[in-house]
Amino acid sequence: MKAPAFDFTQAQSVPDAVALLADTARFTKPLAGGQSLGPMLNLRVAFPEHLIGVRQIEALRHAFIDPANGELVLGAAVRHAQIEDGLIPDVTRGLLAHVAANIAYRAVRNRGTVGGSLAHADPAADWVNTMPLLGARIVVAGPDGEREIDARTFMTGPFTTALDEPELLVAVRVPALSDAARWAYVKFCRKPGEFAEAVGGVLIDRPRAVGRLLIGATDGAPVVLEAPTELLAASSTDSQVAEHWTDDRLRAAINAAGIGHDPYVAQLHLTMARRAIVAALA
Ligand SMILES: Cc1cc2nc3c(=O)[nH]c(=O)nc-3n(C[C@H](O)[C@H](O)[C@H](O)COP(=O)(O)OP(=O)(O)OC[C@H]3O[C@@H](n4cnc5c(N)ncnc54)[C@H](O)[C@@H]3O)c2cc1C
Repeated sequence: MKAPAFDFTQAQSVPDAVALLADTARFTKPLAGGQSLGPMLNLRVAFPEHLIGVRQIEALRHAFIDPANGELVLGAAVRHAQIEDGLIPDVTRGLLAHVAANIAYRAVRNRGTVGGSLAHADPAADWVNTMPLLGARIVVAGPDGEREIDARTFMTGPFTTALDEPELLVAVRVPALSDAARWAYVKFCRKPGEFAEAVGGVLIDRPRAVGRLLIGATDGAPVVLEAPTELLAASSTDSQVAEHWTDDRLRAAINAAGIGHDPYVAQLHLTMARRAIVAALA
């Protein structure tokens, strides 16, 4: 199949892109790496009339550490391969590079962008699941300026986000983990390079009072379970934090997410969560 006809304009800056996206006369969408939108056009499941190129916007192509708080500011047009190759400052003790290296195939990682992946909001996509685990914030720009959205509330359903039209996703602010932080991110794929059927993630960073477990690749937004604050006290251990996530609690979360009806699917998610716990403590 070939894509339907569309116009293309390369945006020169974020305000330029936002102004172009504000055109209500035509169905207008941003185009980043084209690794999700391209197939959708070719399969004729999307019919935008005007695509706005955003991958070449200079302000979106870089990543830097914010000296004010040590956060990583990851431009929306940073590609998965740049993170895999260690070209981005590492504030996550290797978590971002680990995740990037296991997204699809190198050809996809060479073009696909962090912002495109988050905006596309496929429940099985990796940044959609990783950013809530990290407690990152999504920075979006619109006609009235920028606003930040907690990554845990950014995805509102399958392929649906808190982005308002004509907002553009411009960056992700990733908090720096402490030296004591432990993490794990595991996924079940039928074949290497395929989208995950279930994702489990754990982040225990007690100096920052963070204890988080992720159940991802659900039918909708990822599920993030926060450990109780009292468990994250200085006197606790990482194992005590992890023990909070009993099978009963995990099953309850899986059922609440609406993915517990199929015993195979429920068991897959439970197993990924348990594997993530074991890997984080190893
Ligand atoms: C064979 C294959 C396997 C894959 N496997 C995986 C996998 O295992 N894990 C995984 O995570 N991903 C996977 N992907 C998806 C890949 O990671 C894509 O890169 C990603 O989903 C989309 O990024 P993109 O930059 O190509 O966005 P595009 O395809 O250009 O855009 C995707 C959507 O986001 C919108 N958009 C893009 N940029 C912005 C922005 N800055 N602000 C607002 N909206 C924007 C577009 O309008 C479009 O609706 C796979 C893709 C393929 C083709």
